[in-house]
Amino acid sequence: MSLRPRIGLLTGDPTGIGPEITVKLLAMPETREQAEIIPIGERPVPDVPLGKVSRVAGAWTLANLRLAAEAIFGGEIDGLVYAPLNKQAMKLAGMQQEDEMHYLADHLDFRGLCSEINVADALWTSRVTSHVPLRAVADLITEQAVYDSIALLSRIRGSARIAVAGLNPHAGEGGLLGTEEIKFIRPAVERAKADGINVSGPYPADTLFIAARRGDFDAVVTMYHDQGQIATKLLGFERGVTLHGGLPVPVTTPAHGTAYDIAGKGIANPGPIKAAFALAVTLSALGHANARPRLSGSTPQPLPESQSAASDSPRPTPLSQKHPEPPGPQ
Ligand SMILES: [Zn+2]
Repeated sequence: MSLRPRIGLLTGDPTGIGPEITVKLLAMPETREQAEIIPIGERPVPDVPLGKVSRVAGAWTLANLRLAAEAIFGGEIDGLVYAPLNKQAMKLAGMQQEDEMHYLADHLDFRGLCSEINVADALWTSRVTSHVPLRAVADLITEQAVYDSIALLSRIRGSARIAVAGLNPHAGEGGLLGTEEIKFIRPAVERAKADGINVSGPYPADTLFIAARRGDFDAVVTMYHDQGQIATKLLGFERGVTLHGGLPVPVTTPAHGTAYDIAGKGIANPGPIKAAFALAVTLSALGHANARPRLSGSTPQPLPESQSAASDSPRPTPLSQKHPEPPGPQ
């Protein structure tokens, strides 16, 4: 890797604020100081009306994601940043996957664990389940799935103090309000601890983020989408960054969307894409922290109780000794 990481940059869906914030990002002198920018995108950019979902724009976006996947696959970039895409447009253009992360993963032929990590200032959250109906959540909470979420955060953030949320009110209140904590979450936390990860929990989710905001923790593992999203969005939506954790190179994007209400007005805030860019640079510079070998199997699958803490499962190397703590985005 050269001195500066090579960061691929996608302008995002052309119907939204993506191109505007990308131009603003590139106009900042520090951007090119921090990285070698590799623009990725088919030419010409389609001529589509602003502020409206467009299948043509969606198809262009998907083509660009495939180009990005090729660049990652070919070792041409060390990280990828993209301005907001439009999921509806990509679906109209034929995307079968649930989101762009899985689209990228499929086009990278990546079969390992990848998961959306939300970064708001210094606080990181991962989640055990993501874009699934709430009704399906409880069945997807397994010891292996919880362990994988903890391990992924630990792999990317080294010695972070990780807290794990419970699923049920009051973290189950000793089994009175649900047993997932006893059966799956606590055993996963214990196993991760035994692997040398700085983790604790499960904690009642309603008060956990108060402690995290106070600075008691660096990262929180949540059990489902809104548990973490509501908290982190309240804490600082306008600075939020999404990291596709686990992919072979760091892939980041601002947490906000295409913002059709202000598209084309020239008033979009480049702060979040700047934070996304800074995070991709930091993680790339850490030497592909995302590309560490899988810790515990490639797919989150429940293990029988007897195997769950078996000594033959691969042990992670604590990254804290090898890598400095990446700072949070600005
Ligand atoms: Zn979401």
